[in-house]
Amino acid sequence: MGDARAVTEAYLQIFRNVPAAGPGVCRICHTGTGGPSGLCVTCAVTTQGLYRHTEHVVPVSLCVRDGDGAQLHAIVTRRRDPPGSVRRVPFLAATVARFHRAHATCLTRLAGGPFTMVTTLPGTRLDRPIEVFGPMPRIVDMVGDLRGLHRPVLMAGSAQAAENLARRRSDERAFQVLGRVDGARVLLVDDLFVSGAHVQSAASALYLAGARAVVALVIARLVFPRACGDTARLWERACAERFDFDRCCRAGAPTVDRATDFG
Ligand SMILES: [Zn+2]
Ligand SMILES: [Zn+2]
Repeated sequence: MGDARAVTEAYLQIFRNVPAAGPGVCRICHTGTGGPSGLCVTCAVTTQGLYRHTEHVVPVSLCVRDGDGAQLHAIVTRRRDPPGSVRRVPFLAATVARFHRAHATCLTRLAGGPFTMVTTLPGTRLDRPIEVFGPMPRIVDMVGDLRGLHRPVLMAGSAQAAENLARRRSDERAFQVLGRVDGARVLLVDDLFVSGAHVQSAASALYLAGARAVVALVIARLVFPRACGDTARLWERACAERFDFDRCCRAGAPTVDRATDFG
């Protein structure tokens, strides 16, 4: 692919900085918590009932569905191409490439060591047009730093579990892992994070199949500024700032190993 920096630099205005976890900001998904808990209401729900969820969701950018800040959402959900001549898939690949390069060290630290696998979510979304060949595998294969580790190990699971996902309830049976992934440190790359039901269900399926660590890199984290005062404030702040690909929302976060492993 071309120079990821050159491709994305002209579009910085469509991205919004993701705030670091802290008071009022969810430690998993980085939206507003609306209360004293370290988790937002949605993460409190989507991390329940699973074998194991991931604490590590690293979004490139926040986005909203309407108005100022909705452009990235429209691109990710295939309603629109980026402005200008650049096409959607190469644009999103450049976005992932530039962000991953800037945050390779912190992503690796969150995983407790170098990644051994990069994978993507298969299309199980009932709330979206069915696309036989989803864009995420193509996007990952356009990123030089990721394509060598790309393994399409996640398959759609039971239809009933997929219905649960469509209702934003996590269900690890919504995904099947092809074979075992014992000891793998997995970078799970997805385009849009709404409730986290998909990412958390996939993380749990990967852990059940033997993964040692799962870190999710998502392009766009959809937020609802009217959901609570914390989200309204962080969105307002994000819109007032210049976007910076190098800014890190995970600085100081504990690693998977420190949080869960010992010995
Ligand atoms: Zn959350
Ligand atoms: Zn980072």
